[in-house]
Amino acid sequence: MENVIFPMKTINITQRENGGYSHKNLQAWDIAGLDSGKESAFAPCTVKVLSILPYATTGFANTVFFGSCDAKGNMCEVRLGNKKESALTFSLAHSDDISDVKVGKIYRSGEAFYTEGTAGNATGNHIHLEVAEGWQTKKQKRSDGIWETENIIPVNGVFCYLNGWNSVKYLNGVVLPVVSGRASDFTIADAQKAFMIVAGKYTANEAEIKRLDINGDGVVGIDDAMKIFKSV
Ligand SMILES: [Zn+2]
Repeated sequence: MENVIFPMKTINITQRENGGYSHKNLQAWDIAGLDSGKESAFAPCTVKVLSILPYATTGFANTVFFGSCDAKGNMCEVRLGNKKESALTFSLAHSDDISDVKVGKIYRSGEAFYTEGTAGNATGNHIHLEVAEGWQTKKQKRSDGIWETENIIPVNGVFCYLNGWNSVKYLNGVVLPVVSGRASDFTIADAQKAFMIVAGKYTANEAEIKRLDINGDGVVGIDDAMKIFKSV
């Protein structure tokens, strides 16, 4: 199963959820990379373009909805930074040029898939980022007048820091769990070990428990063993 990797190489979170500026009562982050021009964002996992809201025709800020999928483009679950597993939609906005983006296009994890910009009256190049559960294609207007992606979830807890690829400029108080690869790095041997632990045939040390305890409940259970088995 794929991890959800922070979508810019340089992590620079310039405004968080419920931010004092344009994110009041909104679960969105603004990310801005190195601030060295219009930088690329990279697919956090394998994703497919679900819908596009061009500024010229919709008034939205060239917003694109990308849904987590397998190599064939079918909706699939991914592993979030908070260890939950869910299918997700990533909604990105403010790119000045989305002429390359087509509904149905698939991007593999780590492929450049969006570019920061200022479309929709943004001040300075950045990407406005929202995350939703399941596949979503629309923004909805709430009763308080704020527009948000349908089925939106908090951005905090979604992303991981990819060791050797991401670097930090400004975390804005966010803690990102560190992962060593874009996908699960478990092996058949890990799956066997997990089942042995569950069956009481093997006594794991602390490091092994920490590594194999996918759901984070402190023990290696049948749930963890099944997930490790399915990921290899
Ligand atoms: Zn924003």
